[in-house]
Amino acid sequence: MTREIPPTAGLPLRWRDVLNLSGDLAQSLARQFSIPLPALPCSGTAALIIALRVLQQRMPGRARLIVPAYTCPLVALAAHYCPPLRVVPCDLQPGSIDLDEQQLKHLCDDSTLAVVVTHLAGRVADVDTAKRIADAVGAAVIEDAAQAMGALDDGNSVGLKGDVGFFSMALGKGLTTAEGGVLFSRDPALHQALHRQCRHDLPFSLRWELQRSAELWGYALLYQPRGLHYVYGKALRAALAQGDEVGAVGDDFSVNDIPLHRLGGYRQKVGVAALARLPDYLQQGRTRALRRAARLNALPGVSVVMDRPGQQGTWPFLMVIMPCARTRDTAMALLWTSGLGVTRLFIRTLPDYPAAAPLLEAGGDITEAQAFAARTLSISNSHWLTDEHFERVLAQLKAIVASPD
Ligand SMILES: *Cc1c(COP(=O)(O)O)cnc(C)c1O
Repeated sequence: MTREIPPTAGLPLRWRDVLNLSGDLAQSLARQFSIPLPALPCSGTAALIIALRVLQQRMPGRARLIVPAYTCPLVALAAHYCPPLRVVPCDLQPGSIDLDEQQLKHLCDDSTLAVVVTHLAGRVADVDTAKRIADAVGAAVIEDAAQAMGALDDGNSVGLKGDVGFFSMALGKGLTTAEGGVLFSRDPALHQALHRQCRHDLPFSLRWELQRSAELWGYALLYQPRGLHYVYGKALRAALAQGDEVGAVGDDFSVNDIPLHRLGGYRQKVGVAALARLPDYLQQGRTRALRRAARLNALPGVSVVMDRPGQQGTWPFLMVIMPCARTRDTAMALLWTSGLGVTRLFIRTLPDYPAAAPLLEAGGDITEAQAFAARTLSISNSHWLTDEHFERVLAQLKAIVASPD
């Protein structure tokens, strides 16, 4: 196997993107997604940190942040930069990315700064319920749309129902600037405060700009199945050979992996050029994903996480829930190193990441989030995963769920 399908449907760069020297990324994003002119910090995590700092100033004394128990560990690590904030994991609804409503009600009180609602896997999560519960105790809602740039919630961009929203432009997340964040609020005063905080807290960093620009050129050159064999496939196999699943998916973050600076002008211009192709790319991905999701949903005991009626998410990959942990593990043993874009999202729930644990406060029981971590796998929605590739993945899954043990 000398080809590796990328695990997500990142938008490939063209050389003319890398050479583009005009345009304004914030304005282009605002126009494309009908959002207020966003601030552009260096990452999605930096966007979250800025949002939390602004909310802390507005609501001093509130020191608890409620987040989904199954999410990117960087979300918990953000609290390190916002002392004395503590992170409280909340369970999920069964087989869903939505927060468990009863537990969220129980966890929310007048010490709650904010609730993070995560549009995981490009799906449109239920913001209304979280908003109602958070409003009742005076807490904010932050929409983590890191994986969902371009998703529509009741016809508007995700990130506009909550108090604050952000996207990520990290490698592999749709539009990329080799790390970058997009931060905004529908509330004009809060939106201005986010911009002020970014200007105050995030300096320009020449060192980071040079490093990230080099990474972006690397992406332009190597983000295709042959290149990914070398820069992604080999490291994946090496980690798995050592039984290091967290390393295999690149989940092994620490608080030292979070630089705080602004997104430089050159990378913004590369983003402007690529953004012009994003709407078509997302639309083709949506068509492909819905067709494939229907095939997967027809397998006994298998389900793909879908959108509720009227919601229109993006499809970086299909989030597949297998009948049980055993069938999921069997599928991964066969498919993880097949080069066919099958992998796992986050390996564990938050309390099981050693770097996140010191920032957490015990919440409730997180059985459903643990079941989600144990039973899910992801199938890339990259255009490089052809129908023939997909049929091979489907046939393997079909055989696994059909066999009694
Ligand atoms: C990637 C991701 C983040 C962090 O974004 P970065 O740009 O990588 O810092 C936050 N939340 C979720 C759900 C993510 O997938």
